[in-house]
Amino acid sequence: MPGNQLVVLGCDGSYPGPGGAASGYLVRSASTLVWVDAGPGTFANLQRQCDPRQLDAVVLSHEHPDHWTDIESFAVWARQVGRQQPTPVYAPRGLRERSYFGKDPVLAWHVVESPSEAQIGDLRCSFVATDHGPPTNAVCFEALGPTTGSLGYSADTGPDWAIEQLGTGIGLMLCEATYTRVDEGRYRHLSGRQAGSMAATAAVSRLLLTHRWPSVSASEVLAEAAAAFGGPVVQAAIDATYEW
Ligand SMILES: [Zn+2]
Repeated sequence: MPGNQLVVLGCDGSYPGPGGAASGYLVRSASTLVWVDAGPGTFANLQRQCDPRQLDAVVLSHEHPDHWTDIESFAVWARQVGRQQPTPVYAPRGLRERSYFGKDPVLAWHVVESPSEAQIGDLRCSFVATDHGPPTNAVCFEALGPTTGSLGYSADTGPDWAIEQLGTGIGLMLCEATYTRVDEGRYRHLSGRQAGSMAATAAVSRLLLTHRWPSVSASEVLAEAAAAFGGPVVQAAIDATYEW
């Protein structure tokens, strides 16, 4: 039996770069498939990875457009191509009102308070608020079996948040690293150095960097994250699959 997987649908920070896509991921366990964040470009890439009918739910971290607007394309697909059941969408308060499909029966919206827990199929989802401005939820997925494991996702956050709020010893941590230390303190995002340091403090096993601005050097972000973390670090890439 294959293990739990994370598939990257898009990993560009704040806007999609040339040929890229903004934030979006597929989280797959033994019997559950969840689309986590639906940034621009990710629904196109999702359809190369799975039949959207297989989705058990969509989880949206916050209302910034680079994290959710492709839910609109998905809703159009659901209307036109058809899906028998409404798709559950877990999102912070206020996001539903921004969607053209906030009252459409193709989507079943659930407000995610913070902290809170939800169970989607065989995944236990624990949500905590980050340091980012609009209500933003980081999430930890725990697979309840038969394959076990834990996957954390920071969503977007500044440094006044900590991975430990999701738990310590997370197997695979998908953490934003938007820029290098040169920009620390200017925005509510993390540098590679800050992401690496935060992951080390939380005793993460493996660190996966995402949400880098297309204008920022991938190798510089990776180098400072690796130096601060002291363990395995990789940069997320579209279509890449990671076991967790
Ligand atoms: Zn973002």
